[in-house]
Amino acid sequence: MWAYEDTRLALRDALRLSRAMTYKAAVADLPQGGGKGVIMLDAHDPLTPRRRRAALLDFGDTVNALDGSYITAEDVGVSSRDMPVIAQRTKHVAGLARSRGGGGDPSPLTALGVEQAIRACCEWVDSSSSLRGRTIGILGLGHVGSRVARRCARAGARLVVTDVDQSKRQLAEQLGARWMGARTALQADVDVLVPCALGAIFNEDTVPRLRCRIIAGAANNQLATDAIADLLMQRGILWAPDFVVNAGGLINIAVELDGYEPAEARRRVRGIADTLREIFEDARRAGTTPLAAAMARATEKLQMAP
Ligand code: NAD
Repeated sequence: MWAYEDTRLALRDALRLSRAMTYKAAVADLPQGGGKGVIMLDAHDPLTPRRRRAALLDFGDTVNALDGSYITAEDVGVSSRDMPVIAQRTKHVAGLARSRGGGGDPSPLTALGVEQAIRACCEWVDSSSSLRGRTIGILGLGHVGSRVARRCARAGARLVVTDVDQSKRQLAEQLGARWMGARTALQADVDVLVPCALGAIFNEDTVPRLRCRIIAGAANNQLATDAIADLLMQRGILWAPDFVVNAGGLINIAVELDGYEPAEARRRVRGIADTLREIFEDARRAGTTPLAAAMARATEKLQMAP
């Protein structure tokens, strides 16, 4: 649920996000395909609680009309409190509360996957998966970013954080993290940059200014275009493909659809580290970027799909 300037931008976002979901499910070896729903808000006319509820109910009707070929779950702008509202109109909802037979908010599992990915990248770059003493820059302290920040702080990392929402400064203080403006944080001198806000932040303008060695974060569609992956490689920055790093939430949902087992979900999410190592190996062998290697894997799986 997001405010887009016009419907073409909302449609383009839905298409880009659904493409990423397809790759994500394929690389994580899940039987699901890929889809995404977007609820477009009017940037100049914020929703009242009553109209927000009506929008969620309409969205539920739309999902229901697809008769199970699309299953919705929470993402940017939608919280676990919204899912029961959508569920009043359709049963094709994942991420419902554990008390309702669901797997709950997928963000904690997405955050676990991001931490595993950061560790795998550190190990690839300098043979140690420890986060102690590393500087980690987290862009966006929402559902996923705040949890990644807590995990990294517990593991002994030094944190630099940012969010457009100034109320997140409180969490930064709690974690002893250094707060920066969004633009400065992107260019901060850190070991690992962890994008956990919105997409398309890496482009021809921003990449030359980066001062990190590794990028591994939850945000979908981090690269403005696929060619940016080459630019990152030329700069010697290891970029872990977003659709591999952030698959934890989707893996959790796939486990939920089979009858939720929290331990099984965590075990499978930890597998993200192994998947990334294999992708980095493939890329090194083929002399390509991790993006090209991950997409090759996804394409191979999709070709085998029934
Ligand atoms: P969220 O809406 O809870 O958090 C996003 C945060 O980013 C908010 O605090 C927002 O204020 C901040 N933000 C927005 N624009 C910013 C900017 N320009 N600079 C700095 N901060 C900014 O969303 P989330 O659920 O935490 O998801 C974060 C990202 O991860 C999204 O791209 C989402 O698609 C992706 N993702 C989330 C999940 C999940 O389980 N929630 C799973 C896979 C991928």
